[in-house]
Amino acid sequence: KKTIGVLSVQGAFEEHIKILKQLDVNCIELRKKTDLTKHSIDGLVLPGGESTVMGKLLRELDLFDPIKHLIEQDIPVLGTCAGLILLAGKIADDETLYFAAMDIVARRNAYGRQLGSFQTDEEFNALGKIPMVFIRAPYIESVGEKVDILARVDNHIVAAKQANMIVTSFHPELTADLTVHQYFLNLI
Ligand code: GLN
Repeated sequence: KKTIGVLSVQGAFEEHIKILKQLDVNCIELRKKTDLTKHSIDGLVLPGGESTVMGKLLRELDLFDPIKHLIEQDIPVLGTCAGLILLAGKIADDETLYFAAMDIVARRNAYGRQLGSFQTDEEFNALGKIPMVFIRAPYIESVGEKVDILARVDNHIVAAKQANMIVTSFHPELTADLTVHQYFLNLI
């Protein structure tokens, strides 16, 4: 069985764990440094939530450096919504940087307040249309050469891949569709 570490300090981590369990993998909740030293993980999930809060907690709980190290060693990573922001190499109109591992420019809260939350069905990486739930979501404003675009909604990039990293600005863990998680597990 594959073992996936799910960052569990804030946000929608339980929903990711539910989906991953349906796909028959072991899940480790990452809440403190020893969760990483005690277990060896094959992949990492950075869930949605509030990127500023997650960034602060990652530092306070001494999880930032060990997770950054895993990402630099090319562990497969799925970052959703706030997780996308944590991986972005640049955040538009913002000097803040977190793992800065992926050559994308992310715009936070890109859909404004009124359009804060919505759902649509769009094509994901030629695997068919899947339901996409957006909650105060970012989108990807631009990507570098090494990045493949996996999905667009209304001409905005909402999913992308670079090497072993997959990011979505929507929440695949909030629907019953397993496409994104299955695609992530196939990287392992
Ligand atoms: N707006 C959040 C942020 O900027 C992301 C929203 C989410 O993860 N649902 O971090």
